[in-house]
Amino acid sequence: MPGRFATIERLRRWLAESRARTACWSQAGWQQRQSLEAVDLARLGLLPDEAAMRAALRYPVKVPPYVLSLVDWDDPRDPIRLQWLPDGRELMRLCSDASDDPFGEAQQGPFPGMVHRFPDRVLLMVSTCCATRCRHCTRKNRLDEAVALPPTARMLAQVADYIRGAPGVREAILSGGDPLLLSDARLLRWVDGLARLPQIDAVRIGTRVPCTLPMRVTAPLARALGRSGKVWVNTQFNHVREITPESAQACRLLVEAGIPVSNQSVLLQGVNDSVEAMADLCRGLQRIRVRPYYVFVCDPVTGTLHFRTPIAKARRIARELTEQIGGLLLPRFVVDQPGASAKQPI
Ligand code: SF4
Repeated sequence: MPGRFATIERLRRWLAESRARTACWSQAGWQQRQSLEAVDLARLGLLPDEAAMRAALRYPVKVPPYVLSLVDWDDPRDPIRLQWLPDGRELMRLCSDASDDPFGEAQQGPFPGMVHRFPDRVLLMVSTCCATRCRHCTRKNRLDEAVALPPTARMLAQVADYIRGAPGVREAILSGGDPLLLSDARLLRWVDGLARLPQIDAVRIGTRVPCTLPMRVTAPLARALGRSGKVWVNTQFNHVREITPESAQACRLLVEAGIPVSNQSVLLQGVNDSVEAMADLCRGLQRIRVRPYYVFVCDPVTGTLHFRTPIAKARRIARELTEQIGGLLLPRFVVDQPGASAKQPI
């Protein structure tokens, strides 16, 4: 339904009314259908100049009502809003080390959609959809052309054959896009198909859904994912205000199904690039039993350069954070460098 809201005030009112209708609000499908797109943002005056409009055309916009409801509309630098709002600086081409695919993922697998970059794990692109299109996404230049591997018997057999032929592989990562945007049946076909390989110790699911569409995590789905005892979830909260009763509930369902849940934040200029923001985030994650695992320095991806935090600043934040919070909730600050054989601590 394009161009629904003429003013922020009307949007706010609609969000408040919709939240009160919990039968709709708590449905992931409803949230997805009601997501705002570029045309809605233009009408709301959130694309203030031509560069922002061009960025919205170049990189799609999608933001569900749940995420919109977390925004402080009185703050133009609101850290939630910056993660999905198009910015003219996404079109900058000034940085020599940036590229559309800095890790060469497209070339590092036996067939399109499978990446074998590190010796002990393979990554499978099983979805090209996301709940929210994050402006800092590492795959933002490739997501729209990417092909999601289908969980057919033939594909599962092909993946299993490859894994059997690579004896060092002991972990399979489901990625995309967001694997939790698949139907339960399709997601479980992947999970169960991989978990039954004796060589595979862990099936890792990389998903932002607990943060951006928490109602997608239902009790039956969490139980089914926990069944094999091999599933691990890595999610991505970047700011403490993303920790809400809804996201806490999603993580609780996963944890209580026996699934270890860890968080991989991205260090984003203007969003969380301070010791206070990171300390608050880590404490909030501990409260919902999610382990703060990694903080990534923003990858050198075209279209994300305005989010990059200088390494010296990242180092300072990492150092000062150790003085503020205990080791149990201290994430590792790392940089993923093209060509490196592992993530590098900074
Ligand atoms: S959910 Fe993940 S894959 Fe999707 S846009 Fe955000 S960062 Fe990228």
